[in-house]
Amino acid sequence: MKKIDLHTHTDISDGSETPEAAVRLAKSLGLAAIAVTDHDTAAGVKRAKAEGEKCGVEVVSGIELGCGWHGSEVHMLGYGVDPDDRGLASVLDRIVRDRHERNVKMAKLLSDDGIGIDVAELERRHPGSVIGRPHFALCLVEAGIADSVKDAFNRFLDPGRKYYVRRHFLSLEEGAELIIAAGGRPVIAHPLQYKLSDEGMTELLEKAVSAGVCGLECRYSGYGEETVQRLLKLAVDYGLCPTGGSDWHGSHKPHISMGSGEHGELCVPYDYLEALMKR
Ligand code: AMP
Ligand code: FE
Ligand code: FE
Ligand code: ZN
Repeated sequence: MKKIDLHTHTDISDGSETPEAAVRLAKSLGLAAIAVTDHDTAAGVKRAKAEGEKCGVEVVSGIELGCGWHGSEVHMLGYGVDPDDRGLASVLDRIVRDRHERNVKMAKLLSDDGIGIDVAELERRHPGSVIGRPHFALCLVEAGIADSVKDAFNRFLDPGRKYYVRRHFLSLEEGAELIIAAGGRPVIAHPLQYKLSDEGMTELLEKAVSAGVCGLECRYSGYGEETVQRLLKLAVDYGLCPTGGSDWHGSHKPHISMGSGEHGELCVPYDYLEALMKR
């Protein structure tokens, strides 16, 4: 069976590796296809596709958008988006400006407590990348204030923690509309991450379907077979295509391996991609 990974992050957002390195890793792992799904940007897609052509890996254009949902956020993947789409570019520009303002506010809160993080320096160090809380987390680790990225989030950067600043989110409808207008297929990412009740999940999926979402990420790092079967049933019930991916971030999330998840539990068949792209 041909295996794929439809959820990966590069250093164009908060992954550790370049788009080219991500594709070369996919090749070395024997994956038939990967989607590059950076947070709020499709700027790595062309580079990944060029590398994919060189080494013989199918690269699917992708993006991952944060959408507001009841005071929290739900992530929406978009597959097949045109990275040059004007409408998409203009909304993403706005999101990056919002993020910059939010990053400045977080840096101010940190500096009030004597922790110096220079946003301008971060932006210089990661030219063309979408800068977010993961970059702050790495700074806190480098400064010896946190033991790991996870520890930095748990103690300082998660919602409700001292240095968290909420940013502006698109609504679910706006996210789906934007992806569809850019030629893509919207998919709800890692559905268990939102800790929804059964009723909450029903509400999310009903809203998602009416917004034009056409897929549900049923296979994901850490999801065991029982979970996967439950999600596959939900996908059938709501007429959604099942998708799957690891959410690989390279060394920034060292417990996740491309294509195989946390301990080999992840296996995403190529058929998922074919069915999704026919939608
Ligand atoms: P941001 O979009 O700047 O708010 O950052 C969100 C990103 O940070 C997510 O997409 C994850 O990649 C990462 N993240 C969020 N929460 C955690 C956590 N508890 N541990 C590790 N990474 C996290
Ligand atoms: Fe991330
Ligand atoms: Fe996500
Ligand atoms: Zn992701």
